[in-house]
Amino acid sequence: MDFLSLTRDGLGDELDKLGEPRYRADQLCSWVYERRAGRFEEMSNLPAALRAKFAAQFSLRPLVKVGETGSEDTTRKFLFRLTDGQLIETVLIPASPALYGERADRRTVCISSQVGCAYGCKFCASGLDGWKRNLSAGEIVAQFLAVEELSGEKIHNIVFMGMGEPFANYDNLMLAIAILNAPWGLGLGARHMTVSTSGLAPRIRDFADQPLQVRLAISLHGATDEVRGRIMPVNRRHPLEELMEACSHYTTRKKQHLTFEYILIRGVNDTEEQALALTRHARRLNAKVNLIPYNTVTGLEWERPDEHVQEQFLRVLVERGAQATLRREKGHDIAAACGQLRLQVTRQAD
Ligand code: SF4
Repeated sequence: MDFLSLTRDGLGDELDKLGEPRYRADQLCSWVYERRAGRFEEMSNLPAALRAKFAAQFSLRPLVKVGETGSEDTTRKFLFRLTDGQLIETVLIPASPALYGERADRRTVCISSQVGCAYGCKFCASGLDGWKRNLSAGEIVAQFLAVEELSGEKIHNIVFMGMGEPFANYDNLMLAIAILNAPWGLGLGARHMTVSTSGLAPRIRDFADQPLQVRLAISLHGATDEVRGRIMPVNRRHPLEELMEACSHYTTRKKQHLTFEYILIRGVNDTEEQALALTRHARRLNAKVNLIPYNTVTGLEWERPDEHVQEQFLRVLVERGAQATLRREKGHDIAAACGQLRLQVTRQAD
């Protein structure tokens, strides 16, 4: 069983079943989340019999690193094998001042929420081989622990922008967020976590109504239904007006700004008409726009626009009063678009 999917109360219930006192839950959590014990045998203030019972039933490390690209100064991408052999990837971004205005020494980890993805955005590597399964809450939490352990770095922010649509795995995502946030867990502030969705409007409303102040980013990538619908099939189910209304519900409930992620793709969504429509959405919601030049994906035909087109797109937004930045992306030279490393490995193995 997956230890990292348990809340402190859930752990108390497991202790009850084993005939052990519930207060041991605090000791176990302290070993796992504060002291980062990887094995129950290390937990020296727990009785040996209890350690043995837990070791027989629970796994503390559901991920094994099987690949890595990048270097310490750039984006580092880790490929992990899960216990059933599926592969996921997690990315460590050394500093992201252009992303969220964080301090230059702040590190961000980009976490996957599913194996593969069912949403089939046309520009994305994660959707190429379809959806395999949801990650458990423990597999989500384990990515954070594993990247801190492997890199030796303290991580300050999490973005749920890796492989998969986080809101299609809503319950496990929210359980993972609770564990990452809890004082008995990893104690990471809710405002240091950002969930990025392709636009599941009903889930955005649920997310707005839950109590934690977790941030929200929308993978927009098209500012009219015509253009967005061409590259993101989800837009047919939840068109822009429905999406914007759900976003407005979020900003009203949370009193938080949200971010629009917008990948610039040559000849698809980089026109002045799109820049103007995007400006209108951003101003209506007071959202920040994060422009990201497209990273080429092997097997897909899309390309990034020339730099002067990127700059011109940015200028249209800024001159009309939208808050926008253009990311000069780190990790462009490694396979850093989401889902790419996993795809390379699985295709080599085919
Ligand atoms: S962009 Fe996100 S939602 Fe779309 S296919 Fe890729 S992982 Fe799935």
